[in-house]
Amino acid sequence: MQLYGQYFGMVEAGYEVKSLRIHSMDDNKNYPIPHPDESPETVAEFERILDEMHSFDISGYIQTNEAKCRRCIYEPMCANGGCYDDKT
Ligand code: SF4
Repeated sequence: MQLYGQYFGMVEAGYEVKSLRIHSMDDNKNYPIPHPDESPETVAEFERILDEMHSFDISGYIQTNEAKCRRCIYEPMCANGGCYDDKT
């Protein structure tokens, strides 16, 4: 969904985006992502997630997925402090 956010941001800024893809660092490969013009169901899912984000209350949220925090690039500055104890 982040890629769709970047897509719509670029389109709003006047750029023409002909294709979308993501790069996986796990296997060093690129993967094509359906273009919004060709995937109305993905656009609908993107809009549903936006609605969820707009109504989300962060004040009561506690991350419990330790694996996610261990791989998170924001962990060093996370206000939550990550969700595991043996950080180095
Ligand atoms: S380190 Fe913080 S921002 Fe990253 S996944 Fe965990 S709770 Fe979320």
